[in-house]
Amino acid sequence: MTANIYFTGGHEAWRRYKGPLLVALKQAGVAAVLSPTCPDPAAVDYLVYLPGTVPDFTPFTNAKAVLSLWAGVETIVGDKTLTQPLARMVDDSLTEGMVEYVTGHVLRYHLGIDRFIGATGWNKVVPPLARDRKVTVLGLGQLGTACAQALAGLRFDVAGWSRRPKEIEGITCLSGADGLDEALARAEILVLLLPRTPETENIVNAATLARMPQGAAVINPGRGALVDEAALLASLDAGHLGHATLDVFRTEPLPAEHPFWAHPKVTVTPHIAAETRAASASRVIAENVRRCESGLPLLNLVDRAAGY
Ligand code: NAP
Repeated sequence: MTANIYFTGGHEAWRRYKGPLLVALKQAGVAAVLSPTCPDPAAVDYLVYLPGTVPDFTPFTNAKAVLSLWAGVETIVGDKTLTQPLARMVDDSLTEGMVEYVTGHVLRYHLGIDRFIGATGWNKVVPPLARDRKVTVLGLGQLGTACAQALAGLRFDVAGWSRRPKEIEGITCLSGADGLDEALARAEILVLLLPRTPETENIVNAATLARMPQGAAVINPGRGALVDEAALLASLDAGHLGHATLDVFRTEPLPAEHPFWAHPKVTVTPHIAAETRAASASRVIAENVRRCESGLPLLNLVDRAAGY
């Protein structure tokens, strides 16, 4: 059987993905026809999907799965026209990228690196050791767990918070409303790696920011909607929150007139924390096609009810 795969991402993405997908499908032993256009939706077996590219999934009557190239699926998970199974991107390269981004920005805050950049005076401020620095990671999924473990490996005192209770060696695992209170109260550095769902939207708000220690830092490579922007700015301006590093925003690219750009206590990065890389992501896609064609369950299936 030859699988018909429709790549929905448009020409620029197709240029990057065509070669790696063909190689990965061949290596996985999958016979497939790949196309960036879709003359007959009923003939499509799999959609390799980028957000915002398919307004209606109804015509794909025989599709066996929608395979997202993104880890976050908030723009598609509630789509009523999507009746096909939805798998999201879980990929070692994505995880490695996120670990590097989070570790780098945590170390920036921990070591107080900004204080020394461009300094001309002998301002001897010795940072504490990592073991005396409390970091909290909200979200203990693929990315949050990897980041928490990497930080714990550097001896940071790490807590993590998730929807369901967890046990991860070396991490203080918290869940539930009381767990969130505890997670925030200890967070000298707070890392947001939650998905965007109705439950997580604005989880960083005036009340939760007020629970964090004076001078704390927030790093958000999760989703922009996790943060109430006005509350974040108010907390920074009031001198409670010390600094924020933000990689994701409600509107991307972040508009030129947005106050985050010019704010002295905000660092903006342009959604680069963990990029989906064509070669490794293609292997993940090919493996899922192989599994489905062999009657095996798909990997990384999205829980539509939970929203991630
Ligand atoms: P994941 O494996 O699905 O993990 C999500 C985590 O969030 C899980 O631990 C989950 O708890 C927790 N969670 C969800 N809803 C919650 C709630 N209401 N209360 C408490 N915890 C909750 O996702 P992932 O692969 O780690 O990715 C996380 C997010 O990172 C993605 O959704 C995406 O938005 C973002 N991301 C950003 C970039 C970037 O470049 N900036 C790149 C990739 C991904 P359970 O463990 O109990 O399920």
